[in-house]
Order: sequence, then structure tokens, then C-alpha cells
Amino acid sequence: MAKKQFAIIGLGRFGSSVAKYLSEMGYEVLAIDDDSDRVQDVSNIVTHAVSADSTDEEAMRALGIRNFDVVVVAIGQDIQASILTTLILKDLGVPQIIVKAQTELHGKVLNKIGADKVVFPERDMGLRVAHHLISPNILEHIELSSNYSIVEMKLPSAMFDKSLKQLDVRAKYECNVLAVKRKGEMNISFPPDEPLKEGDVIVIVGLNENLTKLEQAYA
Ligand code: ADP
Repeated sequence: MAKKQFAIIGLGRFGSSVAKYLSEMGYEVLAIDDDSDRVQDVSNIVTHAVSADSTDEEAMRALGIRNFDVVVVAIGQDIQASILTTLILKDLGVPQIIVKAQTELHGKVLNKIGADKVVFPERDMGLRVAHHLISPNILEHIELSSNYSIVEMKLPSAMFDKSLKQLDVRAKYECNVLAVKRKGEMNISFPPDEPLKEGDVIVIVGLNENLTKLEQAYA
């Protein structure tokens, strides 16, 4: 199967890091910005880097933007340009459009006009940092839906030397331990009778409210 081709529009902090990572992973990336200095900054890293205004439909057509599998619109500050660009990409028939939103309202408009995925990097990172401040044992939090999450939790001291059977988080908190990470090794079938040790990380899935109860019970 041919590798996916990506175009990134807007080479600020977010767009340029998406472009760099995809290139490092061996993907073909077209990077676009109307600021030629920004284009210059990534020109050695990505496959093609061009200076163009993404609100200019003809310019986008000339770049063959609709031939890319995924286009990421990473224009943050200029909300009007972000919306216009998304509309143009939609009209040109880009198969998958991912757009960075600055505010909730901006995100709503993007969803309405047909963005396939809207991301809120600042908001999400803010929530993560805040969550980590409140629950320092939580290393990673993955939202599965609005109600369910997977969390990676540093083993709290109250769980040291207890086995999964003894802890029985399934009966007590209706959460399931998916895996135990010990010394960087992930074990997805950790023996239920083996004691957990300081330094272990447990990966748990459950309803958000139950995960919070469990976190608080062992904090
Ligand atoms: P970040 O917060 O990720 O740094 P910015 O909003 O600061 O994002 O950066 C957005 C980038 O998008 C800037 O480099 C800017 O030049 C570029 N940009 C803004 N409007 C357009 C446009 N119409 N066409 C192409 N690039 C644009």
C-alpha cells in the first residue's frame, strides 16, 4: 500500500512540529505558509516547502492539494483564514481535513463546515497539565469517549506489595487493569497473584468517575 501523503498549512509551532515528525517518520510532506521565512525554516526537513496563501483557491488548486490524503490546517491566530482555508479544501475535495482550533466557537464552526477532525492543542495540553497537578500519579490520560478513559498510573504507595487479586479494582471501582509496566516492559497478562512493586506503572480502563474514585482512594 502506498504511504499516505500529507500537506501541512501554517508553519507555526504546532504545524511545523507536525510536519517535522511526519517527515522524520518517512512520510512525504508538503509544507505551506504565506510567510517565506517560516517556509525556509522547514525547507531542509520536509519533501516540499512552498510559500502560498491558503485562502487563495487557485493557488491551492495549482499545488494539487486535493491529491493529498490528509491536509492539516494549523493556522491558529487568524481564525478567518483558518475557516476560509477549510472551506476551500472541502470544496476541492480533500479526503481528510484536520484543523487546529483556537477557541470552542472556532471549533464549532470548523465542524459545521465539514472539518473531519478538530484539534485543540492548547486546551488539551492545559487540561493535561492541570490534571497532572491534581493527580501527580497519573502519567498519561487517554480519552476513549466523553465517559471512558485509559490512564497510566504510577503505582501509589498504598498499592505496594499488593497483588491485582488483593486490590480487586474491578469489583471495588468497576475498572479494569489492562497492563502493568515494570522497568519499561509492558506486560498485558500480569499474573494476578504477583505483588506489585514500587516503580510499577498500571494501565487502567474505566468510567471517568470510577477512575477518579480509584485515584482518590489511593492518593
Ligand atoms: P502556532 O500557535 O501553532 O504557532 P500561529 O497561529 O502562530 O500558530 O501560526 C500560524 C502560521 O500560519 C503562521 O506561520 C502564519 O504565517 C501561517 N498563516 C496564517 N495565515 C495563512 C494563510 N492564509 N496561508 C498560509 N499560511 C498562513
